[in-house]
Amino acid sequence: MRPEAVEAMLPFLTDRFGNPSGSHAVSREARKAVDEARDTVAHCLGARPAEIVFTAGGTEADNLAILGAHAVRPGPTVCSAVEHHAVLHACDALGDNRLAPVDRNGVVDLDRLADLLHPSVSVVSVMLANNEMGAIEPLADVVALVRERAPGAAVHTDAVQAFPWLDVAALAGPADLVAVSAHKFGGPKGVGALVVRQGVTVKPIIHGGGQERDRRSGTHNVAGIVSMAAAMRATVEHRKATVARVGALRNRLADGLLAAVPGCTETGDRATKIAGNCHLSFEGVESEELLVLLDAAGVYASAGSACASGAVDPSHVLAAMGMTRAQAVGSLRLSLGTGTTPAEVDLALHAIPAAVARLRTG
Ligand code: PLP
Repeated sequence: MRPEAVEAMLPFLTDRFGNPSGSHAVSREARKAVDEARDTVAHCLGARPAEIVFTAGGTEADNLAILGAHAVRPGPTVCSAVEHHAVLHACDALGDNRLAPVDRNGVVDLDRLADLLHPSVSVVSVMLANNEMGAIEPLADVVALVRERAPGAAVHTDAVQAFPWLDVAALAGPADLVAVSAHKFGGPKGVGALVVRQGVTVKPIIHGGGQERDRRSGTHNVAGIVSMAAAMRATVEHRKATVARVGALRNRLADGLLAAVPGCTETGDRATKIAGNCHLSFEGVESEELLVLLDAAGVYASAGSACASGAVDPSHVLAAMGMTRAQAVGSLRLSLGTGTTPAEVDLALHAIPAAVARLRTG
């Protein structure tokens, strides 16, 4: 977590323990903190304070967007084939979900998306940046297509992976619903937000005391919300410099591995990827075995997407991009963040070629 985010939450874990829904002085203090956090989060997301719904993370924000908008106006849903499972499985749960294909760089195919759009469509969901291989999606073009072909549909964007790297306030501006999650930008786990634009209605998926203007019941996670706001403010303030610094480290890492390891290919086009993503595929190598060797060498990487069991799923994202199973099996996802150092990149540049060579020589 960012130090600012840790510091901001501590008082609300100790003496400032009020429940913002109460009416006495301790509650009013908590209420003020949540209101101020809402102003900050709204500002960082290019929204109005009344448009912010605090949730318990990105998964809940995605579910509220999709299930909540669908409940207001039922109909088929459309999402890109590379969505996070929080979107994909929420759409699938509604019964009639249509997948918009992507190209070999993981970018949604607008012509094929257009073919899926129809006035009966209820919700369209296309993420701003992909969690596995980092593709940035052309959201403004998606929204323009939806307004033309499915004018009654709500457009949701999962901006969970985008927020650390992209100007979400500007890029997600045309969308009706926007999800973010604090632990992707230096805040705590288990807190997030959904922007619900003025004039857009979502039915609640969690019922109870009517908090968040009846859109999300449950006692506020005051410490988490205040901390998320601090992390957001710091992320936006330093974003430009972070993208330049981490992007250069990512390029050094990817270029170094491409040069050092025969049969190594990079996934996607760097021009349409977020700065913190380095995704590679090693011919003739099983990434599950590679991960074990890297773990022992102090390089904590992943393949596919992490799921609750810790097992590695065969990636629906790489399959949608047209990667063969053999290529997908040898894929490695290296994530860089605000805390990544040049020394860590050097360690990876040393450990990965050595591990691949060891696996290849059996
Ligand atoms: N959407 C994307 C793109 C993600 O990467 C993640 C988490 O990895 C989520 C949604 C889910 O967010 P959370 O872990 O806060 O539930």
